[in-house]
Amino acid sequence: MPRERCSFRGASDRPSAVGFTLIELLVVIAIIAILAGMLFPMLGRAKEGGRRTHCINNLRQIGLGIQMYQEDFNDRPPLYLVNPGRKTFGYVGGTNEYLEKGYISSTNSFICLSDRTRGRIPIDLGWEYFGDFTTSYAYHMGPWQQTTQEGKTWLKTQINRWNARFIVAACPWHRHLWQGWTKTNTSGWGSRQTKIKDLSLRYDGSVDSFIWPSQNWEEEPYTKLR
Ligand SMILES: [Zn+2]
Repeated sequence: MPRERCSFRGASDRPSAVGFTLIELLVVIAIIAILAGMLFPMLGRAKEGGRRTHCINNLRQIGLGIQMYQEDFNDRPPLYLVNPGRKTFGYVGGTNEYLEKGYISSTNSFICLSDRTRGRIPIDLGWEYFGDFTTSYAYHMGPWQQTTQEGKTWLKTQINRWNARFIVAACPWHRHLWQGWTKTNTSGWGSRQTKIKDLSLRYDGSVDSFIWPSQNWEEEPYTKLR
């Protein structure tokens, strides 16, 4: 009986049956690279989503704190969110009329995780930033609005005009305004980067997003999203 030449087809027939060919290896590497490229931006977005949620909670906490403060002080809101120390630029109430003391337990509630300066804001665009340590949040019922005649008039007009939608505090850090400031800001509101979604605490205690206007922020920053 003649022996068949190929009675068994097995591994020994194919030289590369055990390992991968170079092409196969390259394909696998390419697929892994593509998957990694898809995964890392997703992780980045997830992180930013987490920071955003944290920031929304901060603003809600601040809103509750302000309500409690107002109940205790004859409906008057605090002059400051955190203790401004002596650096109040001449405004009153620096050492005691602030929200943090007794109303919000953790200083971390005043820091947005997207705030790269962690409360050491190097600039002042007319929002109420004071002291060495301030908050990540711009407060629109600060000492200028409550103690100067001009400010009182402004605040009254704004609240009458926008009612529940008046922005009590906003997170200008949230997302990319910081970048916008360093890139484009030289002389105030009009030169800022626009179309940036920020977070705001409203007069009725709700927290939502708004888009910065292109020119006059008193006219437009109340664009409600969602
Ligand atoms: Zn924020």
